[in-house]
Amino acid sequence: VSLTISPVKDKAGNIIGLSKIARDITDKKMAEQRKNDFVAIVSHELKTPLTSMKSYIQLALGKIKESNESFIESVLTRAHTQTQKMTMMINDFLNLSRIEEGKMPLNRSRFVLSELIDEVVEEGCILAPNHLIEYQRCSRFIVDADKDKLCQVMNNLLSNAVKYSDPGTVINICCKIEVDVVRVSFSDHGLGISAEDQKRLFERFYRVSDERAKNVSGFGIGLYLVAEILKLHGSKITVSSEIGKGSVFSFCLPIESKELI
Ligand code: ADP
Repeated sequence: VSLTISPVKDKAGNIIGLSKIARDITDKKMAEQRKNDFVAIVSHELKTPLTSMKSYIQLALGKIKESNESFIESVLTRAHTQTQKMTMMINDFLNLSRIEEGKMPLNRSRFVLSELIDEVVEEGCILAPNHLIEYQRCSRFIVDADKDKLCQVMNNLLSNAVKYSDPGTVINICCKIEVDVVRVSFSDHGLGISAEDQKRLFERFYRVSDERAKNVSGFGIGLYLVAEILKLHGSKITVSSEIGKGSVFSFCLPIESKELI
């Protein structure tokens, strides 16, 4: 039930009482729930064949490399890249509906952060072969986090850096220790973001209305998810950016241990 309480005034404008309107919003809530269920089901159904397609392509790519069939290799590499992009989009949709329902539990584990960043960078180099991706590696220390969701955070930040900067420019991924936390940052030399837009970037469905970005596809949920996932980890995303110069997005995580595992 939704309640609206408003003051009742006399002719002189004095408040003489309150009016209370109760509305039954069951239908609205149910429609919302159905929408969320639908998005979750569609995303799941799409993800299953996509995951097996990706595995078959990977398998074929491995075999082709052995016999050096370069044309088929390049075609399959492109197909593989597309499946990877679709997987990332579907993961975003799935997590969006989970967040809306307040059902996004963290599946924490202890792992070596630099190894996860290695995977993100490796995949990024395949997805964006025309950018120069540089990575300043950090030591092998351990963090306690949800590996898949952290991977999604970094994939989103890297894919934005690629989408909103020109081919041939450098994207820098840096991982460095600041006392007892590790800071991971993604810098690009792309469009940059105005101070006004920086305040709203992390809102759901917010996209900057910039002439130069209008041909870049997207749903405006990537940074919202980045912010929500980091919030669940007790962390937050920060941005510093200048129009025409580029942007830096970064976040910190506590270091669990500097021991090697
Ligand atoms: P989208 O799917 O639109 O990329 P995001 O939530 O990831 O959605 O980003 C929201 C908006 O923030 C984008 O539409 C874009 O205008 C801006 N943005 C995000 N990352 C960058 C970046 N690295 N450089 C410039 N603009 C960016």
